[in-house]
Amino acid sequence: MSEILFLGTAGARYVVAKQLRASAGTVIHINNSYLLLDPGPGTLVHLAKRKIPIEKIETIVVSHQHLDHSADLNIMVDAITEGGFKKRGTLFLTESALKEGILLSYLHSYLKKIELLKPYTFYESLPFKFKTTCLLKHTAENYGLLFYFPEGKIVGFITDTAFFDGLAEEFAEANILVIYTVRYKPLENVLHLSISDVKKILEKIRPEEVILTHFGMTMLKVNPFKVAQKLSKDLGLKIRACYDGMEIKI
Ligand SMILES: [Zn+2]
Repeated sequence: MSEILFLGTAGARYVVAKQLRASAGTVIHINNSYLLLDPGPGTLVHLAKRKIPIEKIETIVVSHQHLDHSADLNIMVDAITEGGFKKRGTLFLTESALKEGILLSYLHSYLKKIELLKPYTFYESLPFKFKTTCLLKHTAENYGLLFYFPEGKIVGFITDTAFFDGLAEEFAEANILVIYTVRYKPLENVLHLSISDVKKILEKIRPEEVILTHFGMTMLKVNPFKVAQKLSKDLGLKIRACYDGMEIKI
């Protein structure tokens, strides 16, 4: 059985800085292997708290270089490779994140492999299989992700982006859709999704289940659980707001 564990659900500077929600990443667990997505600040601590065996994390995916997605990357690489004594793991990241230097140069050789994320590309780091979408509309190079589970389910992650025509269609095949919903209401020139964008997406595609996460302050103020409940009722879809430590079985 596979599962997804959302260690953290914080999504914007203030919520991260004050740790109003944890900003740790997301763990995907298939058989006896673990994938870590977007290791934001506190990831190492939350993995330890939950007793996740870090030596079994062989795959790390960083969607983009912003700190709430990558701050714990270096310590994670050190931790999973036992300080470089065990060459281990594959890191997936964008070229711009690599060039930005989010991975300290002395840690490069600790990893077995570093693979660059490109648009519309299929990646395998067994047992994990995933595909990138088109380039999303964000202040850093960033792609959406679709994970293919052995149970036959596809889980999509709409990572940081502004809304644009065609965004929903990129995730049409997802059975479960995770949406990084930073804002309650849209704000001009802020390249993040808001609830009205989520509505626009879900008017075009109808996944079996939707999980809202990566909340900024405007979402926390209005209570994400209530917002999800109302959205669920209005759209006739199963929509849930994520909480720190939420686990879903695939
Ligand atoms: Zn970002």
